[in-house]
Amino acid sequence: MVDGNNLKSFRKLLAAAFMTFPILIILFCIYQNSIFEGPKNNPFEDVKDNQFLSKIPDDKLLGGLLVSSFGEASCISRFESYLYRKTSSYKPSKYLISKLRNYEHLHQICGPYTKSYNETMKEGAQFGKHDVDSRCKYVIWIAANGLGNRMLSMVSTFLYAILTGRLLIVRFDNDMSNLFCEPFPNSSWLLPKNSPFSNNLKQFKTFESMLTNNKKNNSEELLPSIVFLTLMNYNLGDTRFHCDQNQDLLQKIPILILQADQYFAPTFFMISSFRQDLNKMFPDKDTIFHHLGRYLFHPSNEVWEGIRKYYETHLGKENEKIGVQIRVFNAEQTPEIIISETISCIHQNKLLTKFNMQSSMNPPLEKNTSKVVLVVSLYSKYGESLKSIYESNTSLSSGVIKVYQPSHEENQKLGDNMHNIKAWIEIYLLGLCDALVTSSWSTFGYVANGLAGLKPLILQNVHGKIVPNPPCQQNNLEPCLHIPPKYDCRTNTPFNDTFTFYNTKHCEDYPGGIKIINMYD
Ligand code: GDP
Repeated sequence: MVDGNNLKSFRKLLAAAFMTFPILIILFCIYQNSIFEGPKNNPFEDVKDNQFLSKIPDDKLLGGLLVSSFGEASCISRFESYLYRKTSSYKPSKYLISKLRNYEHLHQICGPYTKSYNETMKEGAQFGKHDVDSRCKYVIWIAANGLGNRMLSMVSTFLYAILTGRLLIVRFDNDMSNLFCEPFPNSSWLLPKNSPFSNNLKQFKTFESMLTNNKKNNSEELLPSIVFLTLMNYNLGDTRFHCDQNQDLLQKIPILILQADQYFAPTFFMISSFRQDLNKMFPDKDTIFHHLGRYLFHPSNEVWEGIRKYYETHLGKENEKIGVQIRVFNAEQTPEIIISETISCIHQNKLLTKFNMQSSMNPPLEKNTSKVVLVVSLYSKYGESLKSIYESNTSLSSGVIKVYQPSHEENQKLGDNMHNIKAWIEIYLLGLCDALVTSSWSTFGYVANGLAGLKPLILQNVHGKIVPNPPCQQNNLEPCLHIPPKYDCRTNTPFNDTFTFYNTKHCEDYPGGIKIINMYD
């Protein structure tokens, strides 16, 4: 039996449910949109709490630079970095992507522990002749100097490998262990520990002696299988590596050991056989380090843990992040001058609201903004000074400026793995900032700028006792080659002067050096 009253209330209930249902649907849609559309106006909003939802998956593979065939556990940063790093404004060309895929294929065929690798190395070590598999030729990179120098020279060596059909193999000694993930799928770039190139490189013919011998005998039969070449700060200017005729000779050498500490990629524009490929790979010439650096350098899991934790604790929640790198090369530069210069640079470029350190009438920050300054330096005094200047003025503003410095090693320590790990964490953290102020001459700073994809403001002062005006200058993304070649390949004579060539200009922060630019810059 059905009770009439109950039936009425049931009908009322049903009608009410029908009427509220569309409203619920509309409310649900609005809610969905607000989650998935992400923030609209504030460019810094995407680093706030729901940052992960507004990113597009294409970022994950860096616009096609990376392949997806890696196991996630072996290199977490490869899969997570897109959640922290800004999407690059520069797209890699299709040609670069196809060159990388070809390179990866070659690395799988010829990489360490393959038959071809074992045969070439055996022949090479015994100074055998060129009956080795000619598909597999190698450039073995050997470290020198600090991490910034190393990363610049690794990228240059990798580009050289792509341009010459060689494989990049790296010799990482203990101080380089556990910094980077393997960059190439299903293979390794690490020189096996039992390799004859693990020590005593002096036993191998040098590039210079190869050139002298070749000139004397004029016979390619006498070319060695292994050549040891150094492209270092002190002798880069004198080498004839950038001469076409010498590149032709090197093509016949299966194993090239290369110890380098510079960003020598700009010299490739001097080599006529490389130019066409370079132009096709990099329609935007000033993105060479940016793309190849992002392709090669993925923090190891240990380093990534350090980066992620620091970012989440100190940086991630702030609206704007300003990275400041202070590298001191000249003991004459006083900390007071460096700090004044840094602050003037920050304020002239409107990175933080200008306030006068002596005045109590400073303008407030925009409402509810929170900004953070990440100070990276060997010395604690820089972080401490900037902290006391910015944080003690919070009562003057409704916004907040925080200052953090992750470490202060006080000295540069060569050969120390933990020191390099800290340096890599800090280089990467700088690359997660929205704007960068870095120091002149510093390869550490160049790497941070290049990986970030930001046009950095580089502090101008390196010797002076006064703050220059302007205190800093905007540079392009490419690192500077400090010691460019001073050898004229056409006349076979040394030059006294540095000269610029295709797609290069003198560096803003180091006028004797050269850097890659776009022709239209
Ligand atoms: P450059 O000398 O500035 O061109 O940079 P390099 O990276 O080639 O060499 C300097 C080395 O000193 C770095 O690799 C670090 O080991 C160390 N270093 C210099 N500045 C810093 C810094 O701000 N933080 C840390 N953690 N290490 C630094």
